[in-house]
Amino acid sequence: MSDISSDLVLFNELVEILINEEKKHPVADRIDSNKLYESIDLSLNASPMVDDEFKTVLKDVLVSTPKTATNLFFNQLFGGRQSKAVLGDLLAVMLNNSMYTYKVAGPQVGIEQEIIRQSCQLIGYGSQSNGTFPTGGSMSNYMALIMARDAKDPKCKLEGMTKPLVVYTSEESHYSNAKNASFAGIGRNNIRYIAADSQGKMIPAKLEEQIIQDLNDGCIPTYLNCTAGTTVLGAFDPIHALADITEKYGIWLHVDGAYSGSVIFSDTYKHLVDGIERSDSFSYNAHKMLGTPMTCSIILVKDKKHLHNSFNNEAEYLYQTDGDDFNLGKTSFQCGRRNDALKFWTLWKSVGTQGLKQIVDQQFELADVAREYVSQHSDYTLYSYDDSISICFNYKNIDPAALCTALYESQITVVGFGAFKEETFIRLVTINANNEKLDILNFFQVLEEFAAKTPDLLKVKEELQEIA
Ligand SMILES: *Cc1c(COP(=O)(O)O)cnc(C)c1O
Repeated sequence: MSDISSDLVLFNELVEILINEEKKHPVADRIDSNKLYESIDLSLNASPMVDDEFKTVLKDVLVSTPKTATNLFFNQLFGGRQSKAVLGDLLAVMLNNSMYTYKVAGPQVGIEQEIIRQSCQLIGYGSQSNGTFPTGGSMSNYMALIMARDAKDPKCKLEGMTKPLVVYTSEESHYSNAKNASFAGIGRNNIRYIAADSQGKMIPAKLEEQIIQDLNDGCIPTYLNCTAGTTVLGAFDPIHALADITEKYGIWLHVDGAYSGSVIFSDTYKHLVDGIERSDSFSYNAHKMLGTPMTCSIILVKDKKHLHNSFNNEAEYLYQTDGDDFNLGKTSFQCGRRNDALKFWTLWKSVGTQGLKQIVDQQFELADVAREYVSQHSDYTLYSYDDSISICFNYKNIDPAALCTALYESQITVVGFGAFKEETFIRLVTINANNEKLDILNFFQVLEEFAAKTPDLLKVKEELQEIA
């Protein structure tokens, strides 16, 4: 029955199985999606399950779940495992606080605020700054957009949309921008996608041209989403040049650093977000570059009055003690809110800001190893630029989608593909800071061995070209 001590013993046992399994099979035993419900007993039943069977089914689930912490997982903008952050997240589960009031979160409020305060300091936001922990990078972008909308049109939150607001982002930016424009009542058709240059960075002159045209058409330029680490290429939009424009036209400047905003922790790579102090809001995901468990996203706002203005709502049943600075529900989207701060705090506290810098720098070093390998081997074509941890390449004229899918289905390595302008390519993400140089070289080795054993892959490309 329910007993936390014996369940924690079981937990440790299962974790040990998982960790051994990760070493033996870095890519999980894949269950074909068509056969999922026959292969593993996921059914929920009226009667309870006896302990031994329960343990067996849990084991089956663990072993067949995709492994994101191993040295052969390169598919996503997260990966690896920072153990001190895992510790913090496990403790957060045990504590089970909700972050809305000091009354139920106590010191956890201070933990969250300390992360926010130090992050604001790192990017040069002043004493009026603050922030919150939204559910992820998409939600961070959404909150930024809502604050921008309310700042430009204060009546909107009471009366709904009455003005022709328009917003800007680059064609390379994250897809959440489109959804958010819809949720915010601005409308997907009122986003202007600004062209990116050959390296995936937004072109400031194109932005200004578009703004001038919108003003001539009677529209109201409201918000610019600028990206620090685009999702495919990992490109950094030029903040200073864009801020010159947003300041000139009175437009909210948000920097979406979900992917690579954590460069603020590295004096070596911080220059990639030069000008960040001129933004109105900035968000980054600690669950991406810093390796905390999912999810851990932080939005910082230069002037906290915007957070209060857009997200505060009186609730007598909830806010019964302590001041606004301690009742964080006054600046969040949700009511009940998971404690995403503790895992980041345990990591930061244990390794220090210097340790966070090492985590970030390691990823760029691994990216350099991968970029160098690709550029020195004539069987490869490179599509990436410097200062990105997304290494995009093709191998021997093999169709990248077919190669990625075959690697995944054969449980060789898990890596994805992406597209930029006319080209589609494999995207190797070197975000797992637990990896070493050898792990990156091993990735290329297993890919090459697999391709050599699978001559049909070359044919796929030829067939595709014939169809085209
Ligand atoms: C990942 C990502 C997001 C979305 O973050 P989630 O936490 O997955 O919602 C937004 N913007 C960029 C640039 C990203 O890479």
